[in-house]
Amino acid sequence: MLAGIRFGCGKTNMQVYLKAFSDECEALAEDGLDWQSPTTHENINSKVYAVTCACDSVARCQLQGLVQFNGYFGCNWCLHPTQRFEGVKHVYPSSDPPYQLRTHEHFVEKAILARRTGQNQCGVKPYPSLLLLLPKFDIVRGFPVDYMHAVCEGVVDKLVSLWFDSSYNQDPWYIGRRIREIDERIVGIVPPSEVTRLPASPSKRAYWKASEFRCWLLFYCLPIFNGILPTPYLKHLVLLIQSIWLLTQTKISAPDIEKANSLLTTFVRRMEQLYGAEHMSFNNHILLHLPNTVRNWGPLWASSCFLFEGYNRKLKSLFHGTRGVAHQIVNNFVIVQGLTKKLNMMGEGTPLMEFMKAMLRGYPLLRSVTKVEENDEDILLQGKGNLFYCHDHETERCLSNYFEAPLCDLRIVEYEKVLVDGVRYEKAKCTTKSKRSDSVVAYGPNQIGKIMNILFVRQDVTFVMLVS
Ligand SMILES: [Zn+2]
Repeated sequence: MLAGIRFGCGKTNMQVYLKAFSDECEALAEDGLDWQSPTTHENINSKVYAVTCACDSVARCQLQGLVQFNGYFGCNWCLHPTQRFEGVKHVYPSSDPPYQLRTHEHFVEKAILARRTGQNQCGVKPYPSLLLLLPKFDIVRGFPVDYMHAVCEGVVDKLVSLWFDSSYNQDPWYIGRRIREIDERIVGIVPPSEVTRLPASPSKRAYWKASEFRCWLLFYCLPIFNGILPTPYLKHLVLLIQSIWLLTQTKISAPDIEKANSLLTTFVRRMEQLYGAEHMSFNNHILLHLPNTVRNWGPLWASSCFLFEGYNRKLKSLFHGTRGVAHQIVNNFVIVQGLTKKLNMMGEGTPLMEFMKAMLRGYPLLRSVTKVEENDEDILLQGKGNLFYCHDHETERCLSNYFEAPLCDLRIVEYEKVLVDGVRYEKAKCTTKSKRSDSVVAYGPNQIGKIMNILFVRQDVTFVMLVS
C-alpha cells in the first residue's frame, strides 16, 4: 500500500501527512473495514490499528514531538539529559544505573505541561504530535530503534571512520596505514550470491550502502582485522558483532536478549574508555535500547527501514526521465497494482500468469525448476538434472547411511543448484574461480564444508546435499 510520496527539497511538513493519516486511523479503529472472506464468503468487520512506526532519527523526533536527538533530553526512549562536549555538541556519556525509561503516560503528562507552559518538558515540545491521537498507539514503544540507520549507517559507519579517517592518525585505534594489507584480505572474500554487493575497500566507504556496513560488521571485519586492529579495540568490536548477531536471528530467546543487553551495555561503557567521551554519540547511546526494540517488535530486521528502502528502490524504478517524476511514479504504480489484481483473477499455474508474477516481483524467471515438498520447506531444484551414478567408495558409504534400499535400486538425479526457503546453494566447482560462491555451508555443531553433490531421490528421503 502506498499512502503518499513527497517530492521536493527541504524539510517535510509532517502535519500534512499526519492529519490525514490520524483521521483515517481513527475511522479504521472505530468503524473498521468490511471485507468478505475469499474461502468462507463470510462478511467480516476488522478494526485496524497503527501500532509501530519505522523511521530514521531525524524524522522520529518530528513525529514524536520531541526535541532533536542532538539537544537536551533528545533520546526518544529514556530521560538521558545529554551533556555539552567542549561547548560544541551534545554527547551521551554512559551512566550506571541507566536513566529512567520514557513511558507513554509520562510522555502525555509532559506534553500537556509543555502545552500549558509553552516550554519543552524533558524534551517534549509544546506542540504535541498528532500521533498521540492514534488509538492504541504507544508514543514511546511504538517507535523501534531502526538498526539500519542507528547501527549500520550509524555506529558502524562511525567506527569505520575512526579506524581509517586520517584525522585520527595519532590515535591508538587508527589502522589507515595498513589499508593495503586490509584490501588484500578483502579481495580473498567470496560471499554468497544473496549478498548483492561485493566487499569493497574501506577507502571507498563514502559510497557504501547500509547493507555493506551490515556485511562489514557481521561477516568481514573480524577475519580482516585479526592481527591488525589492536586487541582492546578488536575485543570491544566483538561485543557489538555478537550482540547484533543475537538480535538479528530468526528466532530469539529471552536469554539471547539478556545476553545482548549485557554485551551492548559493556560495549557502550568501553566506547567511552577506549575512544573518548566526544564519540559518545546518540547512535552509540541508543544501542542500549535495541534489546527493548526486540522485546516489543521481534528481531531487529522485522522493524527496520531495510524493507522500506527496498520499496524505495522499486518506486525509483517507476519513472524514466526527469519531467513530472511524481506523476510518473503514481501512474506506473497504479498500473502495477491493477495488473496484480487482474492476475489474482487468472487461473493458477498458467505460463502467462507465472511470467507476469515474475515480472511484477522484479525477479527473473527460474527455468526448469523441480519443486520438492519436504518438512514444510520450499525446495526448488534448478536445471534439468542428470542421472547420478556412484563411482567412489566414500560417496557410496555416505549415501547408504541415508537409504534403506540398495543404491542400485534407486533413481538418483544430480543437480547443480537448489533453492531452499529462498536461499541458493550450488555444487562446488573445481575449476572456475568465481567472485561468489553458494557452495560453502555451516552445518552440525560448528562444522563448515563444501557442497560436493546435490541429489534428488524419489524414495525414502527426497532431497540430500552431500557436504565434505
Ligand atoms: Zn536513551
